[in-house]
Amino acid sequence: MKLTIHHLYADMMNLYGDRGNVISIRKRCEWRGIPVEVVDVGLGEGVKPTGCDIFLFGGGQDREQALLADDLSGSKGVDLRAIADDGGVILGVCGGYQLMGNSYETPDGEKLPGVGIFDLHTEPRNPDEERLIGNVLVRVRVPETGEEREIVGFENHGGRTRLGDTEPLGEVVAGFGNNGEDGTEGARRLHAYGTYLHGSLLPKNPWLTDQLILSALRRVDDDFDLEALDDAAERSAFASMASRMAGRR
Ligand code: GLN
Repeated sequence: MKLTIHHLYADMMNLYGDRGNVISIRKRCEWRGIPVEVVDVGLGEGVKPTGCDIFLFGGGQDREQALLADDLSGSKGVDLRAIADDGGVILGVCGGYQLMGNSYETPDGEKLPGVGIFDLHTEPRNPDEERLIGNVLVRVRVPETGEEREIVGFENHGGRTRLGDTEPLGEVVAGFGNNGEDGTEGARRLHAYGTYLHGSLLPKNPWLTDQLILSALRRVDDDFDLEALDDAAERSAFASMASRMAGRR
């Protein structure tokens, strides 16, 4: 069994170390002897699922988002939506997350169409509003296990995301999240995840990395299980960040 990571617009959408998400998935698979291939999917290139896939769509500035919106609005966007509808594993961060919704309006008033994986839209900040910047702590309910978990990351966005008929990924414990007002962070539908958390997200939150890996592998083998890794260093980094954030809860 081989896992394929499809890195969407790898050279354009890679803010605040989002490439670390690719590295984290690859390493946690390699440590368990699971082969991984990374495929970069650039402008004009289609997505080609293999059956055991994770699609990663990192963050980028308005300029990059505008440059790729056309490319996404064609068959690539349709294919990605179909993959999400079918329970495929997709993670979008910040600028990528915004384009997984219905639309993203830039501060110049340009309305970029999104892929429509999530029923949400993103509005620009008003001139008197600040960008939403800083470390974030989010409480996430995990439907697979019924557990409550926390994730940490770093956000820096002007856009304010408003959820329609879509579940948030979690609730903000400290930081801003989707819009700094309603306490929601990110979105989740089946195995499609959107979040404002850079950081990189997955190295900081190894349980979430494993959840993405397991969901992808279970598409080919229902009984697949992941062997536990020694996450002592990751756990202590998480604990240190979570306690720094505790004062802001
Ligand atoms: N350009 C978007 C915003 O500022 C996304 C930025 C990002 O990906 N960090 O809202």
